[in-house]
Amino acid sequence: MAQTIISVQDLVKKYGNFEAVKGISFEVYDGEIFGLLGPNGAGKSTTLEIIETLREKTSGCVRVNGFDLDKDPGQIKKIIGVQLQTSGYYPGLTLTELIDLFAGLYNQNVKPFELLDMVNLRDKAKAKFKELSGGQKQRFSIATTLINKPKIIFLDEPTTGLDPQARRNLWDLIKDIRAKGTTVIITTHYMDEAEVLCDRVAIIDSGKIIAMDPPDKLIDKLVASGFERPKEVKKANLEDVFIHLTGRALREEV
Ligand code: ADP
Ligand code: MG
Repeated sequence: MAQTIISVQDLVKKYGNFEAVKGISFEVYDGEIFGLLGPNGAGKSTTLEIIETLREKTSGCVRVNGFDLDKDPGQIKKIIGVQLQTSGYYPGLTLTELIDLFAGLYNQNVKPFELLDMVNLRDKAKAKFKELSGGQKQRFSIATTLINKPKIIFLDEPTTGLDPQARRNLWDLIKDIRAKGTTVIITTHYMDEAEVLCDRVAIIDSGKIIAMDPPDKLIDKLVASGFERPKEVKKANLEDVFIHLTGRALREEV
């Protein structure tokens, strides 16, 4: 039986008169990769930041690992890992120095090399953050979410702007993190990514959840409704061609 680790009930967020999140409810199960999908402005980041205790909600009930957001935000902070925007790092510090800095902030004993190994960045230990490629920066920022050994990590569009190789590399990393028992909540605009990664997705549009299920089930439901793709479906797409030609190996140019 799936155990609920996050429960959100009737969550509402107003910015002035504008209702960005309009009474949404969903649950995230322990150990799953849960995707929040939706167009720009749908309310994904607002929802995540409320659960992360970084933004005030207007109304509704949020519980994380049994803790009530209103009563125990401090307890929630302790068990979650939040990916900062990559612009939030001191660009002139090396990766080792940044890990030591975060470890100090979280009061955690962390071995920088172990963490860098996990995201395949050991050989960059002495490099400055600003010297990393886009994919390396994302991998490093995901590594920093793990410093406090969280039960849940939140990734807000972690693969936006990455090339296909770096995107696949990040998928593998996210799957590894989940395989070690960490629950992952991710937002993305890439449906292929959601299909590969997510156990379940919620599709959110204009502040409302309009569908929620495993990706496969959503697709089956659409097909059962009589939907057919207008174009003949081929057994590969252009991205398959690109990966076939250029390989899966990471390119690390900035
Ligand atoms: P998403 O992450 O899905 O793109 P957001 O949660 O960032 O969406 O934003 C949802 C809506 O709320 C958007 O219309 C956005 O313009 C608005 N919004 C987000 N943050 C603020 C804010 N601090 N003040 C006013 N409006 C905001
Ligand atoms: Mg957003």
